[in-house]
Amino acid sequence: MPSTEAPIGAQKFVPEGTRELDELKAAAAGCEGCELHENATQTVFGRGAASARVVFVGEQPGDIEDQKGLPFVGPAGRLLREAVDAAGIDASNVYITNAVKHFRFELRGSRRIHQSPGPAHIAACRPWLVAEFALLKPEMVIVLGATAAKSLLGPAFRVTRSRGQLMPWPASAQHPGDFPAADVQALATIHPSAVLRADDRDAAYKGLVDDLKVAAEALSR
Ligand code: SF4
Repeated sequence: MPSTEAPIGAQKFVPEGTRELDELKAAAAGCEGCELHENATQTVFGRGAASARVVFVGEQPGDIEDQKGLPFVGPAGRLLREAVDAAGIDASNVYITNAVKHFRFELRGSRRIHQSPGPAHIAACRPWLVAEFALLKPEMVIVLGATAAKSLLGPAFRVTRSRGQLMPWPASAQHPGDFPAADVQALATIHPSAVLRADDRDAAYKGLVDDLKVAAEALSR
């Protein structure tokens, strides 16, 4: 598919009436809803318990995730798991996924350099996220980083301004017949890869943990 064409989107690949995350994952493996599947190694679907109370949503899989077919298994994922643990969130209550399920990159020599997904990729991939939410019915969604936050919470949302604040899902970010239910709580924070890139990594990590402690506290009530 030439990149100038609008993506057809993932909806036609989402099985109707599915009750199992594994079934969704298997179907997503064959998704050709946008051109990102052409160069990436494989679809990287979410993972975690079907009974998870919290869903983390990042931007897209990275290089290592693309190769392994699992989300958040690279350095950023390790750091996120440490932060989740440090904040006191029970890892068995967590499901983790991305707004876009194929790795977008640019080849420079033999290196694959991360490129943020565009609005068209996020829109194309949204049916998978909606389907995950429909099965999981989480109490809380934690959005990681600016790209995921803008796509889920609205283009005006600023992570820098509103991070670490637990809020009802913004009415302006609700879509008819779509996720989320009105009683889902939302919290945005920085993406763990931003901690890895930060000049003051300790301070950035502490900020991430502090944000997640707000979620932990709410989940313990
Ligand atoms: S990024 Fe999403 S919509 Fe695009 S091909 Fe992959 S799974 Fe399908």
